[in-house]
Amino acid sequence: REYKSSLESTWCPGCGDFGVVTALTRAFSDEKLDPTALSLVSGIGCSSRLPLWMNAFGLHSCHGRAVPAAVGARLAKPEVPVIVTAGDGDLFSIGMEHFPHAARRNFDMVVISMDNRMYALTKNQVSPTSRTGYKGSLTPYGNLDNPFNVINFAIASGATFVAQTYAGNPKHMTEIIEAAIEHKGFAFVNILSPCPTYNKLDTFKFYKGRLVDINKELGHDPSDKQKAMELAEHDYDADYNPDAKVPIGIFYKTEEIPTFEEKVEALKEKYKPENPETVWDDILSNYKV
Ligand code: SF4
Repeated sequence: REYKSSLESTWCPGCGDFGVVTALTRAFSDEKLDPTALSLVSGIGCSSRLPLWMNAFGLHSCHGRAVPAAVGARLAKPEVPVIVTAGDGDLFSIGMEHFPHAARRNFDMVVISMDNRMYALTKNQVSPTSRTGYKGSLTPYGNLDNPFNVINFAIASGATFVAQTYAGNPKHMTEIIEAAIEHKGFAFVNILSPCPTYNKLDTFKFYKGRLVDINKELGHDPSDKQKAMELAEHDYDADYNPDAKVPIGIFYKTEEIPTFEEKVEALKEKYKPENPETVWDDILSNYKV
């Protein structure tokens, strides 16, 4: 099947987001996803244009609202897979209040952050994942804030699959996206995706030689939640330690927690439609004194 649309991309030459499209295309093909029964939901930003370049049902929603729009799609048509593709600012600044609640409810969806560690569409402002000291257009003396650790936040929020990969490694990215699609529950994938136009620190050159596959090279077992959070801490040492490594791979994964959709199905099974009054009897019984 053809997963790329015929529209010409407007991303800058060399943008890391091109690699994400390539990996998604390969993953959709390998997973045999039907583009006529697949939803891609995004917010606003450079990376959020992605649904335009793909063949699937796309929703280019409001700034920060990709996750609640995706939740709506899940509830309306639970048989259709939903994949969110949004930027680090969109997901973790404007949309911050939505992410942890979708994660803890364990909606069966994939949320991909295309993390260039700044706002690109509005021409280079600091985002929640920008390095300390990053010089953006509104912070000429450097960012005073510490970067937000999205991996540990996702794990602490209750996401049942949490991984990180890199836009310059299509093979690893494809493997991780496929594992996220196959996962039953809320899967978060942070993709380190350089912006060569504005971000002169988190570049392809910066990541070259620093990436460590925590599963293959360090033997990390994704069921070890404590170790996952320790490994994620190293992500930001590079701000202070020029020799620091950047971890990629599956940090955490469990399928022991039921999804929201499974809980809804269990409720439907309990309260059969032929006896709708039992729903209200049961609810009202809780209020009897
Ligand atoms: Fe990509 Fe940066 Fe260009 Fe946006 S500004 S399309 S993130 S390279």
